[in-house]
Amino acid sequence: MSHKRLLLDVMCGDLRSYLRMCGHDTVYALDRGIEDDDRIRSIARTERRTLITRDRQLAESVSDAIILTATETTEQLRTLRAVGIELTLSEPQRCGRCNGPLERTHSPRADSIPDDNPVWQCSDCGQFFWKGSHWEHVRATLDSL
Ligand SMILES: [Zn+2]
Repeated sequence: MSHKRLLLDVMCGDLRSYLRMCGHDTVYALDRGIEDDDRIRSIARTERRTLITRDRQLAESVSDAIILTATETTEQLRTLRAVGIELTLSEPQRCGRCNGPLERTHSPRADSIPDDNPVWQCSDCGQFFWKGSHWEHVRATLDSL
């Protein structure tokens, strides 16, 4: 499986947890407080990321971009799959919240996590992840594409 380095433009933020859960290194412009085109172009270039945007002019001004015309998340995911972005759930690798790397950890004490469920923790923001209802929801959505 080949994972991509991606940059999501402002209008495409709903895709971030899907892409991160599929193992793609996915920066979201607003997570970095960035909205203006020059800075988005700069990140795409210096970090060698494929830009995913709904802005055709912006897409045409960078070397590697995917233009989304749909506004609905599942339609956007279909477009990404059609152009070759692998949309298969991987073992958790990327924090859905901040894109930080995840590491296996011991379960925190929480009633919502079944005892035998493996747990991962984000090295950057400390968030815990496990394959719970959100995971199943994402799996079902990807299966339905
Ligand atoms: Zn995180």
